[in-house]
Amino acid sequence: MSRPIHARIDLAALQHNLHMARRATSARVMAVVKANGYGHGLLQAADALRDADGFALLDVRDALQLREAGFRQPILLLEGFFSRDELPLLAEYELTSVIHNQSQLDWLEAYPRRNGLSVWLKLNSGMNRLGFASAEFPAVLEKVKAHRAVRDVTLMTHFAQADEAAGVEPQHEVFRQVAGAQRLPCSLANSAALLRYPATHGDWVRPGIMLYGSSPFADVAAETLGLRPVMTLSSAIISIRQLKAGDAVGYGATFRADRPMRIGTVACGYADGYPRHAPTGTPILVEGQRTRLLGRVSMDMLAVDLSDVPAAKIGSRVVLWGEGMAVDEVARAAGTLSYELLCALAPRVPLSF
Ligand SMILES: *Cc1c(COP(=O)(O)O)cnc(C)c1O
Repeated sequence: MSRPIHARIDLAALQHNLHMARRATSARVMAVVKANGYGHGLLQAADALRDADGFALLDVRDALQLREAGFRQPILLLEGFFSRDELPLLAEYELTSVIHNQSQLDWLEAYPRRNGLSVWLKLNSGMNRLGFASAEFPAVLEKVKAHRAVRDVTLMTHFAQADEAAGVEPQHEVFRQVAGAQRLPCSLANSAALLRYPATHGDWVRPGIMLYGSSPFADVAAETLGLRPVMTLSSAIISIRQLKAGDAVGYGATFRADRPMRIGTVACGYADGYPRHAPTGTPILVEGQRTRLLGRVSMDMLAVDLSDVPAAKIGSRVVLWGEGMAVDEVARAAGTLSYELLCALAPRVPLSF
């Protein structure tokens, strides 16, 4: 027997969520599989998402893995190339690159070959992270279109608040002003914009988080959106004890029992990717029953309240998030987002598919 923690990846749920994305749009779907498929395993996630029209990620090595595994659709490098040395690889493996800054443009200028590169030219419409400013964009676009190495150009931008009340309108307006008159394919929408703002869909949408069964909105549950959880992180109770009133639990003794209690120790800690800052009260499922985290999360273990879970015993199954315990709810309790929890799953946690 090995340590009981493991993450089960429900590939049928991943396919279902892609189908939900498709139902919400007539645009082509660029499935975002960055960060090891949001922690779900790059190749396995991509395989479940093989009906997507394209894949988006960051690292050219990951892109090559997908090509070598036989994926033929466009693969978009969301941060583009990081040096001129990568340009020959882009050509050889037919990778599509974002171009978002002047250095990339200079490397492209210095690149001697003609080779049919597909480029996504990024406009900074207000997030101020990547992309060319509105004022310089038209001139940059003309240059890129005329470049001997470039076969086609798609125009893109990224929204900072598609998931919030503020919405996308100011950024969408900037994009329309700069790119509206161009007869070129466009891509703007992440999961939140895909679900909430059909006017932003353009030619390509770029969903990530919704594919993995999590809601991009703080106020709407994934289930309400028809999304199914993909990753279920589970472990087991490995120790049980009885506390008297006044007894403390864990490092820092931050939780103290105010009455007799039954508690359990779970084989899961922050070195597995469980958030260390999750406070007492964070929901956890034991034997299918909701209960709560107690005290500080340790590197390899955490404590749960078993006072109201009489069936709990050594070996009882514990679900940290996933089936029956929405990752969004755990993330909210821990003051973070499901994105961070999913991506932070530690390599030491075995995945099963
Ligand atoms: C990560 C990312 C996405 C996907 O965002 P979600 O909120 O996960 O849907 C889309 N576009 C870009 C540029 C990204 O970096």
